[in-house]
Amino acid sequence: MSAIHVVGGGVAGLAGALALARAGRPVVLHEAAPMAGGRARALADGTDNGTHALVGANTAALRFLERIGARSGWLEPEPEGLPVLDLADNSARRIALSPFAWWRRSRRPPGCSIGAVLAMARLASPWRDVPVARAMAEHPAFHRSFVDPLVMATLNTPSSEASSARLGQVLRRLGAPGATRLLVAERGLGPDLVEPALDALRAAGVDIRFNSRLRAIEVEEGRLSALIFDSRIHADAALLALPPWEAARLLPGLPVPEAFAPIVNLHFERKGPGPVRFLGCLGGLCQWVLVRPSGVAVTVSAGDAEAELPAEALAPRAWAEVLRLAAVFRLPGEWPLQPPRCRVVKERRATPRHLPGPPPAPPRRPLPNLALAGDWTWPHLPATIEAAVRSGEAAAAALLGVPLGNTPIRLPRRGAWLSLPETRTVGAAANGRAARSP
Ligand SMILES: Cc1cc2nc3c(=O)[nH]c(=O)nc-3n(C[C@H](O)[C@H](O)[C@H](O)COP(=O)(O)OP(=O)(O)OC[C@H]3O[C@@H](n4cnc5c(N)ncnc54)[C@H](O)[C@@H]3O)c2cc1C
Repeated sequence: MSAIHVVGGGVAGLAGALALARAGRPVVLHEAAPMAGGRARALADGTDNGTHALVGANTAALRFLERIGARSGWLEPEPEGLPVLDLADNSARRIALSPFAWWRRSRRPPGCSIGAVLAMARLASPWRDVPVARAMAEHPAFHRSFVDPLVMATLNTPSSEASSARLGQVLRRLGAPGATRLLVAERGLGPDLVEPALDALRAAGVDIRFNSRLRAIEVEEGRLSALIFDSRIHADAALLALPPWEAARLLPGLPVPEAFAPIVNLHFERKGPGPVRFLGCLGGLCQWVLVRPSGVAVTVSAGDAEAELPAEALAPRAWAEVLRLAAVFRLPGEWPLQPPRCRVVKERRATPRHLPGPPPAPPRRPLPNLALAGDWTWPHLPATIEAAVRSGEAAAAALLGVPLGNTPIRLPRRGAWLSLPETRTVGAAANGRAARSP
């Protein structure tokens, strides 16, 4: 049986490769970088590129963690509700993520009223799509304390721009029991996600190739015929799990998101006794603070302005806020007044901006023997680990339904978006490599 080539070793590619290997297909996984994980990766020193949280509603992601034997590495740091400090008035409270827990006054967000909850419930309507801030304009306190942080965390887009319909996709999933449980990797994305995934792939016989960048694809008679890396590989089938800009380079005309939002993470080298904590902050630079025994990580989502500032400007501000959180919530251990060494990671294209209007909808299988995956290809959710896993598994399923090898197949009519001639090499010109155009 000929191998299926999976290109892209982010979460979507890892999930797609595992699904194919579990179905008994030989798989080769190609990743351009020297490590896997993509936008959810461990850096060379073991630090996460950025804090990643899951919720109980992320059923596909949690199932994937089960499959790779990593579920126990994801723990719920704040089962009693998220500790949140409002820097504007120094008020501290625990806020439940589930509205069903708001019957307890002490777990309610400020500004919570029946009218505010109804306004949020209306955001879940799939028929209305406006900027979230406009939809919540009559409930500013509730918007500031609950909806806006939720928008930043799930859509990575400022509320003034963010699509209420995309937020609705999230809200509709948060009603199920356990759906709002918030989980983080106890040790980090390396040991709790990427390494177990690679181990599971190797155990399933997947051939993993790092530093293997796809430069172009060859299409013959409407089918993928070869993949051009540093050398040309004949390919009977492939799953491309690439970021949108790479997919668009290889498949000109593909509808892809074009506006992106950054996430800035500050990683402070502060060792402490534990346990792992996850805290929220309103009215400052920090939005979320993850405290692990190995270090303290601060997240600034949709940080357009912050992504332009130097580390020296960000670190002292963030650390001052961390100290206030540590004092208010009585975090154990030493908290030095001077900021410890800090590494700032700016992911400039962390996710697409989720704006009102229908998101780009690329076909799952643009060619009969080529399937697409990636968080941005899953129209039912914002770009998240959950969307990446679901898209990878859906792309694998789409390929497994296709006859492979030399079996002749009837070509479906190609969609209007794909301007590929019947036989040619695509994608090579963009990186200056000479490639054959037969
Ligand atoms: C800082 C940060 C924080 C986040 N926080 C959360 C969170 O809390 N919860 C959540 O659910 N999601 C979060 N996300 C989003 C989540 O990381 C992404 O949705 C997910 O990782 C996307 O996976 P992917 O496989 O679709 O894409 P990617 O991770 O982008 O994977 C694509 C892979 O393809 C490789 N590649 C690119 N070009 C080529 C080529 N030509 N040939 C071969 N390989 C190539 C890349 O190197 C990369 O490894 C966060 C993202 C960031 C950046």
